[in-house]
Amino acid sequence: MTTPTAKSKKPSKEFLTALKDLKLIWDAGRIYFHIPELKERTRIKLQKQDDLVELGRKEGLSPKLVYHELRKEESNCLICNKQIVGRNHKFLCPECNDREQRQEHKESSEQKKKALTPIERYVDKIRIDDETPEYQSTFKQVKEHQNERHARHVASIFGAIEKLTPSTKPANMTNKEWQREKQRNNLREEEQGVKSWAQIERNHKFEWKNSPWWIMDHTLKDIGCRCSADELRAGECCKTCKVLIKVHEYLLDKFKDASQGRSTII
Ligand SMILES: [Zn+2]
Ligand SMILES: [Zn+2]
Repeated sequence: MTTPTAKSKKPSKEFLTALKDLKLIWDAGRIYFHIPELKERTRIKLQKQDDLVELGRKEGLSPKLVYHELRKEESNCLICNKQIVGRNHKFLCPECNDREQRQEHKESSEQKKKALTPIERYVDKIRIDDETPEYQSTFKQVKEHQNERHARHVASIFGAIEKLTPSTKPANMTNKEWQREKQRNNLREEEQGVKSWAQIERNHKFEWKNSPWWIMDHTLKDIGCRCSADELRAGECCKTCKVLIKVHEYLLDKFKDASQGRSTII
């Protein structure tokens, strides 16, 4: 192996191909909400990145150049070859990117639909009025939802910054008027759904301690499980899990009833 020289040589064709391959993984990565696949993609990505760095070293390219190639901001769209400038490893032009994302949404939705567990199916039916799951939404709806979330997030950041900046009372205002003005501003923010960080944090804590979902989660963690692999292979489980199996069946039944309109709870 040659040691990297300070002055860099031109990258070989092999290096550029490896780089292109890696960029494709970064930019055209698909099926993001399937966690095991995302993990696998990340693993491949990191492996390929290591391979590329190693290849660069073997070719005597300076590490500086290798990392520059990995991070460079201008590139050509890997699909249509149009020149693009973008941060965060943008390797597709906006048009191709949009097309890829649509395709990605279509594929992942189909895959998710196929892999739904019974409880997910029941829950989706129960929630259908207030929330369409992402895999059932159109690409446009998903995008709109993302944009809304992003706008709310940005608004809350600006709100927080504004709160940190001490505002001064205009000279022509009395103290009373100034107080009222501030209250009006707070009210307007509330109406717009802008929440301060403290409010967001408080809400999270409150939900965490009070929502039935979390209570159940905590309860189960407190019970714990003493199943062993050997027992499980032999079709046996620990004493508490014997009860849990029944709880699970009961739970599924309850959700099934609700999803089919037989529940008196909702
Ligand atoms: Zn393109
Ligand atoms: Zn167990």
